[in-house]
Amino acid sequence: MYSIMAARYKYFPEVKTKGMAAVPKLVLFTSEHGYIPLYVNATAGTTVYGAFDPIQEIADICEKYNLWLHVDAAWGGGLLMSQKHRHKLSGIERANSVTWNPHKMMGVLLQCSAILVKEKGILQGCNQMCAGYLFQPDKQYDVSYDTGDKAIQCGRHVDIFKFWLMWKAKGTVGFENQINKCLELAEYLYAKIKNREEFEMVFDGEVAPKIKALMMESGTTMVGYQPQGDKANFFRMVISNPAATQSDIDFLIEEIERLGQDL
Ligand SMILES: *Cc1c(COP(=O)(O)O)cnc(C)c1O
Repeated sequence: MYSIMAARYKYFPEVKTKGMAAVPKLVLFTSEHGYIPLYVNATAGTTVYGAFDPIQEIADICEKYNLWLHVDAAWGGGLLMSQKHRHKLSGIERANSVTWNPHKMMGVLLQCSAILVKEKGILQGCNQMCAGYLFQPDKQYDVSYDTGDKAIQCGRHVDIFKFWLMWKAKGTVGFENQINKCLELAEYLYAKIKNREEFEMVFDGEVAPKIKALMMESGTTMVGYQPQGDKANFFRMVISNPAATQSDIDFLIEEIERLGQDL
């Protein structure tokens, strides 16, 4: 929402004082005909598949046609901490704005969601209401740290502090190891399932919801599942907890097999 508001304000600042009726009909993606393209959203780590859009190629098009580029790295942003995996987000530095939720891949306690905007001053220009009793410009300190006037809300807790503290404690190397380990475990799980006769990578049918129900009843494991279009239900494995080990993966696979035996 913030990136859309900032993009709209950048191209049509009058929207702030005159409202949407004062600007042309806008679209957020290049449509085949009509309207004015304004904004492209690329995803770095889709919520269900973990897929990454090619940011460099998308950025080339956005630069050519002067479009706002937003990268939704809510899930995938954590990979930036890993020298090995950060190439998946190559080009993210060209984005106008980025979403990054350290409470997902990084394991920071809920909630901790960041919106990073490249152009200095645009969030303030877009959102500030100049409450004279709050955000005086003539304070004795650098008022660029007054974030209240850059957001549509005002007094809120400082969620990013948890991330800062964790980063101080673990260091960049600590986060890098954590991310690498989660991705290694995902590969381990993938290889095990591929080589196991009792499993298919995507179930065709209704097995996953039944096994999930049995999981919850027996209280041993809990894995989300997701339909693929209107067809198959499959288990959506997300490994983001740095305490997970290979034996957890082994247990999970055995458990799914055990619970599904009579189906
Ligand atoms: C979780 C998620 C979001 C939503 O993030 P919130 O901070 O909870 O609003 C957006 N995009 C993707 C890809 C996500 O995985």
